[in-house]
Amino acid sequence: MWIAARLNPGGGAIDATTGNGHDTQFLASQVGDRGRVFAFDIQAEAILQAQRRLWQAGLNQRVSWYLQSHQHMASVLPPEWKSRIYAVMFNLGYLPSGNKQVITRPATTVAALAQAMDLLAVGGRISVIAYTGHPGGMEEAQTLQSWLSQQPANLISWEQVTPMDRNHPPQLFLIEKQ
Ligand code: SAH
Repeated sequence: MWIAARLNPGGGAIDATTGNGHDTQFLASQVGDRGRVFAFDIQAEAILQAQRRLWQAGLNQRVSWYLQSHQHMASVLPPEWKSRIYAVMFNLGYLPSGNKQVITRPATTVAALAQAMDLLAVGGRISVIAYTGHPGGMEEAQTLQSWLSQQPANLISWEQVTPMDRNHPPQLFLIEKQ
């Protein structure tokens, strides 16, 4: 609901970690026939699965697929869509039911987040879900938290919804461009 509030027909959105395509489908359902979703994943298995899902939902023609790392999003996004991006979603970690060794990494995640901030229209929103239970996951959440803490408050507002605790809950970051 927090993301949907920013998506209107004709708008652009980015799924930075397509995976099985649940978020891609959600974004595509919000942008209308003249909107566009840019979907990234480094695994062909994920892109194919997501394409099948979107095709079945009748939404595939709204999506541009990129079999590449999200840290390249700024260079591959068509220029006419820059500053018409109203929402970006990151769902970090590994592909559910896929290879658990293929995970998002702190350095590339933060690089992609910085680019997403640049591409976003003022008022646009980013959600990031970080999983802390797998090796490297807690470090990734902490890297995100410290990157966000260093951003100027007049450019970005953010909150971390779930507190860190010893039960390793997922961390949800809600970020808005000012
Ligand atoms: N949102 C998805 C789940 C995402 S799982 C769903 O709804 O099903 C995380 C995904 O991030 C995995 O598919 C993994 O391949 C992908 N990934 C890992 N590193 C990446 C990177 N650098 N750039 C883009 N995708 C990446």
